[in-house]
Amino acid sequence: MKSSFKLGRILGIEIGIHASWFIIFALLSWSLSVAYYPSIDENISPFTGWTLGILSSLLLFGSVLAHELGHSFIAIRQGIPVKSIDLFIFGGVSNLTKEPDNPAAEFRMAISGPAVSIVLALVFWVFQIVFSSQNATLAGVFLYLAQINAMLAIFNLIPGFPLDGGRVLRAIIWNASNDIRRATRISAGVGLGFAYLLIFGGIAAAFLGIGISGLWLALIGWFLASAAQGSFQQTVISEILREVNISRVMKREFKTIEPDNTLYQALHEYILPLNQRALPVFENGKLAGLISLSDIKKIPTNQLNQTSVRQAMTPFEKLRTVGPEEHLGNVLNLLQSEDINQLPVLSEGKLIGLISRTDLIEYLQMRQEIETGQLNSKH
Ligand SMILES: [Zn+2]
Repeated sequence: MKSSFKLGRILGIEIGIHASWFIIFALLSWSLSVAYYPSIDENISPFTGWTLGILSSLLLFGSVLAHELGHSFIAIRQGIPVKSIDLFIFGGVSNLTKEPDNPAAEFRMAISGPAVSIVLALVFWVFQIVFSSQNATLAGVFLYLAQINAMLAIFNLIPGFPLDGGRVLRAIIWNASNDIRRATRISAGVGLGFAYLLIFGGIAAAFLGIGISGLWLALIGWFLASAAQGSFQQTVISEILREVNISRVMKREFKTIEPDNTLYQALHEYILPLNQRALPVFENGKLAGLISLSDIKKIPTNQLNQTSVRQAMTPFEKLRTVGPEEHLGNVLNLLQSEDINQLPVLSEGKLIGLISRTDLIEYLQMRQEIETGQLNSKH
């Protein structure tokens, strides 16, 4: 989620607020000012009520930020830089540059946010006791903040991924099974189950007359469900990118062309009828280069008949190639950083396959579909 407003930096982390957050800020300030504080002190002036309402909302915002800073602080100590913290309608989120690579790091990072919230809840609770005999209204502010921080801790500790509790559960299963994908599938499954519970429970509650709060729960559930599915897919994709060799995805069957063919022939006798965007160019039984649709597009149409493949191809010396053992992630990075659409796969100097960006993305989509199906049937 992109932030609309940048607040500044803490510990080098950019703090941003999404536009949706202002809706919640306004609603909260309003309900505290006209309902909560007048219920503590019925003689409260509208000015004091609103001042306390806005102040409490700002402190709630500070509490959510402190929770996220707890995560970020531990992440940085584990060697994971944090890009930004974004606050939005449902709370906050820390944007890490990468996921933790071991269960212990994941556990420490996940637990640190709720730990901050619990400490804050206790501190505000003590303030509330101290002030209760002197200033009931001020004690009310502290009571509210103690409750909010306790709720932040409890809600986030629900063991459904990607909530903090779900990350704790994932770290525990990951540690026991040494299988991050299985750990993610189980904890995201719990997350999805919990999200559905919120959705259906919320809708049922709305019909039973609890109204707006029920719909609010359903909305949070809907948000959690898509987050659980999204983070599971992300884990699956990064796992596949790290583990699968290019030899499993590359095309082994393809046509080749000779350098003295014209570009017109390359286009109309090979590329279009074969639906093959790139052709390896062979001369005397050796790979001499690669001619692709993008190379041909650079030549004016009326010159395709006079231009040879040799003149337009990427010659072997300039060609980027990969070995069959290369992982998908590295190949994808290479395709993107060099802005090319396909690569020849070479084994011991011999061409054994072709890999294109389209093949790679289709393979990822297929795997993602299969794994997401597993998530939905196993919760
Ligand atoms: Zn958290």
